[in-house]
Amino acid sequence: MFEKILIANRGEIALRVLRACKELGISTVAVHSTADADAMHVRLADESVCVGPPPARDSYLNIPSLLSACEITGADAVHPGYGFLSENARFAEILRAHNITFIGPTPEHIRTMGDKIEAKRTAARLGLPVVPGSEGAVRGDEEARRIAGDIGYPVLVKAAAGGGGRGMKVARTPDDLESALSTARAEAKAAFGDDALYIEKYLDRPRHIEIQVMGDGKGKAVHLGERDCSLQRRHQKVWEEALSPALNASERKAIGERASAAIAELGYAGAGTIEFLYENNEFFFIEMNTRLQVEHPVTEMVTGIDLVNEQIRVASGSGLSVTQDEITFDGHAIECRINAEHPETFRPSPGVIQHYHSPGGLGVRVDSAVFQGYRIPPYYDSLIGKLIVHGKTRTECLMRLRRALGEFVVDGIDTTIPLFSRLLDQADIINGDYDIHWLEEFLSGAE
Ligand code: ADP
Repeated sequence: MFEKILIANRGEIALRVLRACKELGISTVAVHSTADADAMHVRLADESVCVGPPPARDSYLNIPSLLSACEITGADAVHPGYGFLSENARFAEILRAHNITFIGPTPEHIRTMGDKIEAKRTAARLGLPVVPGSEGAVRGDEEARRIAGDIGYPVLVKAAAGGGGRGMKVARTPDDLESALSTARAEAKAAFGDDALYIEKYLDRPRHIEIQVMGDGKGKAVHLGERDCSLQRRHQKVWEEALSPALNASERKAIGERASAAIAELGYAGAGTIEFLYENNEFFFIEMNTRLQVEHPVTEMVTGIDLVNEQIRVASGSGLSVTQDEITFDGHAIECRINAEHPETFRPSPGVIQHYHSPGGLGVRVDSAVFQGYRIPPYYDSLIGKLIVHGKTRTECLMRLRRALGEFVVDGIDTTIPLFSRLLDQADIINGDYDIHWLEEFLSGAE
């Protein structure tokens, strides 16, 4: 087992990883920018190293600085969390060259899945159902027009290097296609430095259902059921649940087994998420994330399995602690992403938290790194915490969520907490009857 792990991240996920390390008796190294010198992850770690000034590119994304921090502290492994360098194949390669373990899959698997065209090709080869679309990148507008005509409108133009919903444009008619292509191309070039585009069928009213998988890197893999992440704003997840209210046990078993078989065949190591769109009882692969997800706690709550602990075990060569037969699903869990944003306009709201009280009691988990008096810096994303609630049934879970939201006090800044209380009054939410467009329609007053 590792002796010392450097956590190359900040905020709630840095704390989440730190907690797993403590339980395993592994020493921890926190890294931080000058803006985060007083952050909770720094206070709770055994050691800390400042890796640069506030902008992420100079600190949390600064590979030479992170490498020096490993050398200085003698860390034998790095956990990247999510975001930042978690899906950077180059970072994983550089660590490997320095004999430091990257807690995640191989650079090769990160690279394959990071290119969405390559990922889709691989998924199809591994027997997963994919969204109908272009075979690979579309070369010019002429080819795009022909392919879109073949698939049938509406189509979605997507960036091969895409992420966070950027570089993605819908074309409803042939007339829309040209502008969709040029906007997506410009966005992709600016955001990722890569303007390769592909086209797929735009599914009308799907749900977003993703399967959590874990591989041991030696050909064994398990799945831990699904998460329903259909409640999204601007392609960003807002509320996630496990299991999905839309699937029955046999559908769950079938797609889970296909996903874990694919991961086993790939020889994949560590945690991964295979994302699908689900419409008319059919699944369509859209992408795979080769890291821990923000919403992983809902899976932990229904399976009782600590995903970060499993990641560390696999990276250290100890293998998975569970077999598929030992994985069972107990009750229901929902996660609400608490952002420092106005609950109606979603304008970011950095500043000082004047009063803070987090909810508690049976079945309530808060993953957050904020506290009373904490100043939220303006440099990073607006997620300040996650409220995760577990209940024996979905109905109990909803009741408990309402109760927990009522206890949550975060004064001095705007947060998205009131949005979740509003959602709990909606019949569609209570019934689990929503798709990927529901939240946007609700927010625009159409519901
Ligand atoms: P990103 O990596 O930018 O997040 P994804 O491929 O994961 O992009 O897609 C993000 C979201 O966009 C999905 O959860 C879904 O809401 C929507 N989406 C993606 N592909 C399609 C599609 N073919 N049809 C309809 N909606 C889609």
